[in-house]
Amino acid sequence: MKCPHCKRSVGLFDRALNDFKNQKRCPYCGGKVAIYISLKILALLAIPAVLVAIKLHPKFGIFAPGLAALVVAALSMRLKPVSKGK
Ligand SMILES: [Zn+2]
Repeated sequence: MKCPHCKRSVGLFDRALNDFKNQKRCPYCGGKVAIYISLKILALLAIPAVLVAIKLHPKFGIFAPGLAALVVAALSMRLKPVSKGK
């Protein structure tokens, strides 16, 4: 994911994004960010995800759709800047 402030890449599993405080900050510039799921990307990934789920089904059985949904959700996550007014 890219920081909306400094445009540097921030890992999805970066500690700065995964402490369960209300306010998350970019580990590089300290800018306030929020994680959201981009519906546009979610929609783009939905069809390949269904295909992947079908392909994974023999191997993972009933877990395949959940697994595919989890990956799609993770890939759809983006960072947005938080306005200072809040
Ligand atoms: Zn930043």
